Amino acid sequence: MFKKQAHFTRHTNDQPVETNVGDRFPLTIKRLGINGEGIGYYKRKICFVPHALPGEIVVTEVTEANSRFLRGKIHTIRQASASRVEPRDSYADDVGGFELEHLAYPEQLKFKRDLVEQSLEKFKPRGYQHYKIRQTIGMDEPFEYRNKAQFQVRMIDGHVAAGLFKTGSHELVDLPTCAVQMPVTMKVMRQMVAIIEALEIPIYDEDQHSGIIKTLVVRVSRGTGEVQLTIITNSPKLPRKRELLAQIAEQLPEVTSVMQNINKGETPLIWGDQTVHLAGKDAITETIGDLDFRLSARAFLQLNPFQTEVLYDETAKALNLKTTENLVDAYAGIGTIGLSFARGAKQVRGMEVIEEAVADANFNAQQNDIHNASYEVGTAEELLPQWINDGFSVDALVVDPPRAGLEPELIDSILFARPAKFVYVSCNPSTLARDLVDLTEEYQVEYMQPVDMMPQTPKCEVVVKLVRR
Ligand code: SAH
Repeated sequence: MFKKQAHFTRHTNDQPVETNVGDRFPLTIKRLGINGEGIGYYKRKICFVPHALPGEIVVTEVTEANSRFLRGKIHTIRQASASRVEPRDSYADDVGGFELEHLAYPEQLKFKRDLVEQSLEKFKPRGYQHYKIRQTIGMDEPFEYRNKAQFQVRMIDGHVAAGLFKTGSHELVDLPTCAVQMPVTMKVMRQMVAIIEALEIPIYDEDQHSGIIKTLVVRVSRGTGEVQLTIITNSPKLPRKRELLAQIAEQLPEVTSVMQNINKGETPLIWGDQTVHLAGKDAITETIGDLDFRLSARAFLQLNPFQTEVLYDETAKALNLKTTENLVDAYAGIGTIGLSFARGAKQVRGMEVIEEAVADANFNAQQNDIHNASYEVGTAEELLPQWINDGFSVDALVVDPPRAGLEPELIDSILFARPAKFVYVSCNPSTLARDLVDLTEEYQVEYMQPVDMMPQTPKCEVVVKLVRR
């Protein structure tokens, strides 16, 4: 209590804003925040309201109140936006992954471009007011695009359920349908739920620390139609394994690979370190452009195969590589970017931290008859300076980091090596803008090209062409 008063006295001119959980008030929504939530101001305090849209007046019910911000949910919509559409998934309000399903798609694309602008405004990298930010390249049909479903499995009211946790909780929402998933991933997922329930295989229980099956991962190749199923378990043993595999073979002929990943105990990570091959092949093959890619269970691949080629085409255009130039493919995954460009390069080197992915990348070079590319296990921040030290001339560089962006050590060695051609593929405008603050000491942003890899969500991918000053 005392602490709170101390807070109020710092703002002697302001009236303490006493807003409590459960309070309701009409709120005008001004804009969308980085997570796709509506933002308005109540008694001068910022208020986040998921699923509310700019221009709307919504009666907001407060769900969280503290000294810095309010969070609320829509009680009723008094004045709806002309851009509001009916979400396809009835549970779109409850779980993550559908944050923008109520917003017309052209507006989603505008929002993603705005996100890039907002992030630049926040971090203000050199010259940011003049960056050319192009219109977001979207999909013609922005549904049924995700090639991978990774669903938690729990018991709900005596039945097996597979879905996602309610936002900010560990309460599972069963997802019988999901409009952003490629249909075959949902078909396999739901059939697996039925098979597991019929065989009465024990399901993981977080409270009791008991049960076996925690998560099901279904990933489909758009190019070959092959489906890989990974069962993530709380123990190496999988009761009724033989019957389970027989049922999968009989009922799900599209499943060409069955794996088990073991992740014991309570952990925020979904995947454990040990992966066991149960049936069929031990990987699936995806095709991108005219190349084949072996894809292991734990290896990363872009989630939207329809837009992956668009993303890589934009990367290729921005890079404009010559056959006399060496390319570094940093954060390489299974080598998709570097190998797609290898025929137009002198030599390609790439690095990636997941061992299985690096093995796939080197295998993928061989199986596509590419002999000027090699991949190594390790972090970009460790290996790039080593390669430069060893005398490898980095003429061109593509970085495609996870949401956290680039490590300072990597930025230092980029600024030191100053590759003439440099493209940053970012899945997070915030860390991109942050990294540009340092990178623009030596580079200029020629343009930024947002590409929508994740329709119906606030996630935004950007290809940035950088040129030396
Ligand atoms: N370029 C690939 C993968 C991009 S995702 C594609 O288009 O498919 C980012 C990848 O970076 C993941 O595979 C992740 O395992 C890897 N990674 C994460 N941290 C890394 C680091 N510090 N150094 C190198 N790779 C890293």
